Amino acid sequence: GSPLLDIEDLKVYYNTISGVAQAVDGVNLQIKRGEILGIAGESGCGKSTLTTALLRLTKPPAYVAAGRILFYPLNQQPINLLEVDGPDLRAFRWRNLAYLPQGSMSALNPVLRVKDQFSDVMLEHSEMSKRDALAMVPDLLKQVGLEAYVANMYPHELSGGMKQRVTLAMAIALEPDLLVADEPTTALDVHVQRVIIQMLAGLRDKMGMTVIIVTHDMAVHAELADRVAVMYAGGVVEVGDVRQIFKAPKHPYTRGLIGSIPRIGGERIRLGGIGGNTPSPRNWPTGCRFHPRCPQAMPICSQETPAFLPVANEAGSKVELQPLVACHLYSHPEAEGTSR
Ligand code: SF4
Ligand code: MG
Repeated sequence: GSPLLDIEDLKVYYNTISGVAQAVDGVNLQIKRGEILGIAGESGCGKSTLTTALLRLTKPPAYVAAGRILFYPLNQQPINLLEVDGPDLRAFRWRNLAYLPQGSMSALNPVLRVKDQFSDVMLEHSEMSKRDALAMVPDLLKQVGLEAYVANMYPHELSGGMKQRVTLAMAIALEPDLLVADEPTTALDVHVQRVIIQMLAGLRDKMGMTVIIVTHDMAVHAELADRVAVMYAGGVVEVGDVRQIFKAPKHPYTRGLIGSIPRIGGERIRLGGIGGNTPSPRNWPTGCRFHPRCPQAMPICSQETPAFLPVANEAGSKVELQPLVACHLYSHPEAEGTSR
């Protein structure tokens, strides 16, 4: 499909007392219109910092140090999101970019009934009348599987799962092109997790929305994503079709992640996992940042940063997309024949 977003060499840093934290450090990623892209990785890899930058919600002490985020509206010139400002940005965000925060962090105003939360958002970000906005609420609630009477309830009267659905319904009220969901199922019970996953899939299928889902939970990616981008130490180390990622992961880090996949509603299955500690963004390892933990590390790995390159995909002819991988196993002649 055509691109919706193009993230180019994005760097988001934080100033801390003990130095600069390079939380997102050179992310390159393209998101296609109408796809569900999963962003995977352990906590501390930069997923949430990346998400925050995409939504233009980066706040001090964090700052965008470099890069561009090109957004491609239909039939228009691309816009660098990092250059949209002030009132334009607020309007742009609700109309084009929707945000579904973590399940436990509902953004609802505790003193407003559900219907008034909706009308506030819709009046602020569109030319709609209050009457028209309120008239849309039952239908929006229905889209997320809630009954019309929920419109009259206050947030404290809702369960965690209901709050998450109301938040989702608000996020999609203005039919944005892109929905970014950060750990949307974390802290919810298994049943509600499943409902939220089905809803996100439905939004793409019915409304053609592009969805970015950010979670450490590989089971959610397996179920929902079309493609998965795996982040490690502030960068993307592998991007591929979901089947390729799970059946034939290329990067040793991805293999480790797949090896520790929990099943939704079932026991955790540990098949080795990844040894060692996640590195500090104040002091990333040299060369390949995974080298201190990598079971396949070679001498070159601590010296040279591997390029992010397409590699051959032997997972099966049904997978058209070539995976992109940042690993010397696939790019360095020294590593010939050791790639699996
Ligand atoms: Fe392991 Fe080297 Fe590949 Fe990094 S570049 S993942 S250390 S083999
Ligand atoms: Mg996070």
